[in-house]
Amino acid sequence: METASEAGVIKQHLIDPEICIRCNTCEATCPVGAITHDDRNYVVRADVCNYCMACIAPCPTGSIDNWRTVPKVRAYDIAEQLTWDELPPELTPEQLAAEGVTPEAAASVAAEPVLAVKPESAAGEAPFNSAAFGASVPPWSAAHAYTNLFGPKNPTTATVAGNVNCTEAGFHNQTHHIVLDFGAIPFPVLEGQSIGIVPPGVDANGRPHVARQYSVASPRNGERPGYNNVSLTVKRVTEDHHGRPTRGVASNYLCDLKVGDAVQVIGPFGQSFLMPNHPKSHIVMICTGTGSAPMRAMTEWRRRLRKSGKFEGGKLMLFFGARTREELPYFGPLQSLPKDFIDINFAFSRTPGQPKKYVQDLLHERAVDLVPLLSDPNSHFYVCGLKAMEEGVLLALRDVAVGADLDWDAAIGPALKREGRLHLETY
Ligand SMILES: Cc1cc2nc3c(=O)[nH]c(=O)nc-3n(C[C@H](O)[C@H](O)[C@H](O)COP(=O)(O)OP(=O)(O)OC[C@H]3O[C@@H](n4cnc5c(N)ncnc54)[C@H](O)[C@@H]3O)c2cc1C
Repeated sequence: METASEAGVIKQHLIDPEICIRCNTCEATCPVGAITHDDRNYVVRADVCNYCMACIAPCPTGSIDNWRTVPKVRAYDIAEQLTWDELPPELTPEQLAAEGVTPEAAASVAAEPVLAVKPESAAGEAPFNSAAFGASVPPWSAAHAYTNLFGPKNPTTATVAGNVNCTEAGFHNQTHHIVLDFGAIPFPVLEGQSIGIVPPGVDANGRPHVARQYSVASPRNGERPGYNNVSLTVKRVTEDHHGRPTRGVASNYLCDLKVGDAVQVIGPFGQSFLMPNHPKSHIVMICTGTGSAPMRAMTEWRRRLRKSGKFEGGKLMLFFGARTREELPYFGPLQSLPKDFIDINFAFSRTPGQPKKYVQDLLHERAVDLVPLLSDPNSHFYVCGLKAMEEGVLLALRDVAVGADLDWDAAIGPALKREGRLHLETY
């Protein structure tokens, strides 16, 4: 029997531009480079997508899970997708028939399961793909996360309850600790989740700004315990990734907010970068810059539990990198945490007169302590910060494992992913 594809019709994978929050997770996850973006839309190359579905589960909004039955020769190309503000409707049977697609062929492709190709295993061939090691499932003992309570079409409003520079750096390198209060609106979040901020105004094309995502920096019971508020750790973007001067839309908007200002918020997002809740579970946190936000949330939740005397947490290890001590968010408060509660390791890459040090150097230095944790099912690893750190950190963890004769490719790496014990959030 003729397959739908032979009959010239395909189920085309598309991303809904109305819901997508441009977090780059799909592009980072796609093992075949089918997903790309410009400053407006994320799009899928029909001729490259192999339906492996690796991008579907990690997408925080579900915007990735859209399909249209189209004649193969009329598949929407990426130039067209980049202009969309919304997805096109399904083609009618008449439109398909006009392209020579029979109703039978259209019906069979619509009913076809899309999983045609198995995702590459974490132990895949070179080149090293760090994203492939990240889990898409939470730790078994994580609490239930609520997601997508508010979307781009129905944002909610929060009120700024606080906004301070939490670094010792000047304007260009500062990071703000911002507290948003939801009043009576239910907005439940867990440590490791993020929220979307919709900046006011329009972009260069006259279209409303899309939301930007920010990790929640406060624990589940609020920045102020018992209050319906969350905190964020926002770096003021004053130069782009190439060092050219720019003025980031959302980050500057947030850093300039005054107490009492109203902010449009969507989310919460994320259902796998969540902390374990079982007693004696260990947490290894590896971050740079604002990647410290979810680590602060987890640390603070563990600190509150410990204070209440109701919880016996295992080890907390923090590997925290920044260019300088002055640029490191929360440097002061971190110093005052008890040494028997958290094992803190700092790396500074631009301290004058000092050799450059990165978080991956710290991982090598602490290899002896990390080896038992890598193979302990109660240990959970979290990596968060700028995209550029991800590969180096994963390679360092692999080196640590291999250096102790642990089989990273066949045992440790796949177990960390399968058991929801290694979580990556880089942007
Ligand atoms: C899951 C997730 C969680 C995030 N959590 C945080 C967080 O906790 N704190 C935080 O500050 N940011 C976080 N971000 C990044 C945040 O969403 C924005 O991308 C960032 O604040 C820049 O937005 P902007 O509107 O200010 O800049 P834009 O106006 O969007 O961009 C301006 C220019 O700056 C470049 N640029 C974008 N981001 C950065 C950056 N971080 N550093 C340098 N140049 C950049 C862009 O490429 C562009 O050229 C997170 C992103 C994701 C996907």
